[in-house]
Amino acid sequence: MKILVSGAGVAGLACARELGTRGHDITVVEHAPRLRVTGTPIDIRGDAIEAVERMGLLAEVRRHRVRMSESVRFVDADGTPVARIPMSEVSDSDDDIELLRGDLVRVLADALPAGVTLRFDDAVRSLGNVEGERGVDVLLASGHTGRYDLVIGADGQHSVVRDLLFGPEEKHLRHLGVYLALAALPDEPRTGGANLIHNVPGRMAGVFHYGGGAVAVFQFRSERPDLDRHDPEGQKRALREAFEGHRSWRIPELLAAAHADPDFFLTPAGQIHLPTWHLGRAALVGDAGYCAAYLSGRGTSLALTGARFLAEELERAGGDHALAFARYETRQRPYVDFAQDSVHGGRDRIVPATWEDIAARDEALRAAGAGEP
Ligand SMILES: Cc1cc2nc3c(=O)[nH]c(=O)nc-3n(C[C@H](O)[C@H](O)[C@H](O)COP(=O)(O)OP(=O)(O)OC[C@H]3O[C@@H](n4cnc5c(N)ncnc54)[C@H](O)[C@@H]3O)c2cc1C
Repeated sequence: MKILVSGAGVAGLACARELGTRGHDITVVEHAPRLRVTGTPIDIRGDAIEAVERMGLLAEVRRHRVRMSESVRFVDADGTPVARIPMSEVSDSDDDIELLRGDLVRVLADALPAGVTLRFDDAVRSLGNVEGERGVDVLLASGHTGRYDLVIGADGQHSVVRDLLFGPEEKHLRHLGVYLALAALPDEPRTGGANLIHNVPGRMAGVFHYGGGAVAVFQFRSERPDLDRHDPEGQKRALREAFEGHRSWRIPELLAAAHADPDFFLTPAGQIHLPTWHLGRAALVGDAGYCAAYLSGRGTSLALTGARFLAEELERAGGDHALAFARYETRQRPYVDFAQDSVHGGRDRIVPATWEDIAARDEALRAAGAGEP
C-alpha cells in the first residue's frame, strides 16, 4: 500500500520502519527542517521492549542506555539529600531502558528500510476523501499533492492530522494541572553526580545531568490550561510568577538561567483522550492519538507498541484497513488506559501540593527502604 506518515518522531519513524519492512511504499512528512533530536531521557518499558526487539533494534537501543532516574535525590533548602526514589519505582523491571530521546530517534531513522521517503519542511494541509473507496487525497503545505491508500497521523500532541479528522485539540485535551519547563545550564560544572530536586509547595526546581550537559528542570502546579506555547517571553514570566517569593536552594539562580536561555522550553502536562483513533483510511499513532503526558513516563512506549500493533494488524487483515485499525485499537487501548491513569501518582510524588505533603513524601520514600539518600 502507498502510505503517508505525518511526523518523524518516535511514532512516525517506528511506523515507517514497521510498515516499510512489510513492503509498503512509505512517505514520511515532517514539518521541522530536520529530525528533532532534543529532549530529556525517555523510557522504553514493558511490551515496548518486545516491539523494539521485533524491529531488530534492541541491542542498538541498549547501547545508548543511560541511568538518569536512578540517581535522582530530593534535597532540602541547604541542598542536603533527604530522600531518593526506590529503584522499584524508577522502572517496571530491570529490562526497562532509559535513553536520550534524540538517540532513539536517530536509531529509528538509521534503521529505515531503503525506499522510505522523508520529506522535511513540509506538513499535511488537507485530507480529502478519507472515508472514500479510492484513497485519501492529500495536499501538503508545499503545494505537493498525492493520493495515498492510508494516512497515519504520528505528528505528536498538537497533531494536524487529528485536527483534520476529529476537530481542534481543545476538544480532546485534558490538562493535568502541572507545567514542565527546561532551561540549559551552560556553566554548570560536570560533576557527574546526582540529579537533584528541591520542592516548595506545588513547585519543584531541579538540576539534571544528561547528554554531556546540565539542565534546569522546573515543574509547577497551575490550573490554567492556556499558557501560549508560541510566546516564550510570556512563558518565562509565568515561570517567574509561579516561583514568586521562593528563594530557597538554587531557585533564584535557576530562574535566572531560564530567563537567559533562548531555547527555553515550557509545556503543560496534557493528555489527549479520543473515543477512537481512526476514521476511514486514516489512523493516529503515539501522542497524536493518545498522549499520556510526560508524567506517565510511558509516551514513548505507547508510540512503539502502537506502531507495532498497527503494522501487524494491517498485515494480518490482508489489506482490510478498517478491520486492521479496529484490531490495532483493541490491542493498544489497555496500554493507553494504563499509562493515562498512572499520572496522578507521578504528579503528587514530584510536585507535592503542601509542606505537609512534601514531608510525608520524604518520610514515605525513606520508609520504603530506598536506601541512604
Ligand atoms: C522536540 C521534542 C522534544 C521532546 N522532549 C521530550 C522530553 O524531554 N520528555 C518527554 O517525556 N517527552 C518529550 N517529547 C515527547 C515524546 O517524544 C513523545 O511523548 C513520545 O516519544 C511519543 O512520540 P510521538 O512520535 O508520538 O510524538 P513526538 O515525539 O512529539 O513526535 C511528533 C513529530 O511530529 C512532528 N510534527 C508535529 N506537527 C507536525 C505537522 N503538522 N506535520 C508534520 N510533522 C509534524 C514533530 O516535529 C515531531 O517530529 C518530545 C517531543 C519532541 C518533538
